[in-house]
Amino acid sequence: MSISSALGNASFIHDVPFASQNLAANFTAVCDQIASQFTSPESVVYWPGSEDYALATEHWSLASSLPAACSVAPSSPEDVGEILRIVYATSTPFGVKGGGHNTLPGASGTAGVHITMQNFDDIVYQEDNETAYIGSGLAWDQVYSELQQHNRVAVGGRAIGVGVGGLSLIGGFSWLTPERGLAVDNIVGYQLVLPNGDLTDVTADENSDLFWALKGGGNNFGIVTRFTVKVYEQGPIWGGLMTYAISELELVIDAVMAFNEGQDPKAGVLAGFHVETSSTGQAFILAALYYNAPNAPAGMFDDFLAIPAVGNTVLPARGFVSFLGTYATPKRAGQRIFAENVNVLGYTPDLIRHIYSEIQAAADKLGAFSVTGVDATILPLQDTGFKSKALDTAWPPHREFMALPAYVEAQFNDAAQDSVVRAELQQLRESILQKALEEGQYPHETALRYEYMCSAGPAVTLDEIYGPSVARLRQIKLQVDPKNIMGLAGGHKLI
Ligand SMILES: Cc1cc2nc3c(=O)[nH]c(=O)nc-3n(C[C@H](O)[C@H](O)[C@H](O)COP(=O)(O)OP(=O)(O)OC[C@H]3O[C@@H](n4cnc5c(N)ncnc54)[C@H](O)[C@@H]3O)c2cc1C
Repeated sequence: MSISSALGNASFIHDVPFASQNLAANFTAVCDQIASQFTSPESVVYWPGSEDYALATEHWSLASSLPAACSVAPSSPEDVGEILRIVYATSTPFGVKGGGHNTLPGASGTAGVHITMQNFDDIVYQEDNETAYIGSGLAWDQVYSELQQHNRVAVGGRAIGVGVGGLSLIGGFSWLTPERGLAVDNIVGYQLVLPNGDLTDVTADENSDLFWALKGGGNNFGIVTRFTVKVYEQGPIWGGLMTYAISELELVIDAVMAFNEGQDPKAGVLAGFHVETSSTGQAFILAALYYNAPNAPAGMFDDFLAIPAVGNTVLPARGFVSFLGTYATPKRAGQRIFAENVNVLGYTPDLIRHIYSEIQAAADKLGAFSVTGVDATILPLQDTGFKSKALDTAWPPHREFMALPAYVEAQFNDAAQDSVVRAELQQLRESILQKALEEGQYPHETALRYEYMCSAGPAVTLDEIYGPSVARLRQIKLQVDPKNIMGLAGGHKLI
């Protein structure tokens, strides 16, 4: 039986995390075979025990850094094609890593052949048509740093380190989304290695079905080596991070509500709530404030700025990358991180209070299970850019409203507690969903619902993510990958 059929029909496929000795030996032989077939002199194979291997297989969450037989770092699309031909011929599970920020173990890690896209790191700004080629192995902040030299920006991730590859294949919320839409709305071309190993270009005119499917379809259709994205003129911005004691919760809620009422697409806020599980049970609130101009309009953020803060890094006229650096997610130094999310229609004071009290309760409970902290994040973004895009994308399946995340996350240390932590986060998600439903803050009509794959847990179904797009995605999948070669990689799978 092939590994893909053995894995069954679940929408989220974990890789085979605990390979038997026998399989592991086979995987090593597959790595050797791949090494012998590389044609680009820069393509390399990294072996366990080396520093390069450790770096290549490192993911943002330790739980996603699985012990692969090797990590292969191809440098040409042809070598990516060769890898796909070999893993298919040998039924070898594999993982494709862009920036390594996905928090589902097995989505980009593997016990088989780990493919790191790190050598696909070119950034080429094309002044004549205001686009850029960007390699799929880059992190978004690398893209911004390069484009900043041309006073340009692209629509991508909001945090340091998040990968171009993964974010661009699932949707992509950006600080620029209220003005420019999602990352997928701004991609005009893909250089794609098809599951059978052949290289193709995908644009709205060439391979239009695939063009649609890649806009949200994840790693189901092959391996992207390069994206062509629209770029926009970008000057200095206003913004930074405010940190508040948890005692200011009500004032922060008031500020979020007042901000929600504005309709300026240049403005953005990201609010996070963090509870430590230590005996102090310390809790605090973070609010990243952003305005796309050297100065924010008078009064716009006064509610946030007036709250007594324990930290304030807001500055006028700073660079985009400098702004991202102010709230860089601390590298959790080898911690396991699990996340769940439920998309809501909007945030009400009661919903935010509910989210906070639920993460506090979860933190109280999970301290005994090696959890060190529990977080929730909300993103009161304007929907102007999102709705103005007439673009047809696999995800989101419609643009009637912009669903907003209620994202929850736990940091912990002991792998033996994986199932306890996952169960608690799923319960947390369910509780927020129920509250949102009661308030009418979650679409009652099933056909209108859509979750974001980025933080969808393993139990979230394809229907919940793609709604009415599922049937067309499956049809295209059968044409592009009839042997389900991409099913050997983990992630949310269409077949
Ligand atoms: C700290 C943090 C901040 C975040 N900020 C944002 C944000 O601002 N906006 C937002 O929308 N999301 C955000 N996310 C979510 C993020 O977009 C997803 O986790 C995304 O999957 C990360 O992409 P990656 O390349 O870093 O991840 P990886 O784990 O490397 O990859 C994720 C998935 O994409 C696949 N993949 C990666 N590269 C390729 C490729 N070239 N071809 C085919 N498949 C590929 C992998 O196989 C895997 O299934 C954030 C996540 C974290 C942890």
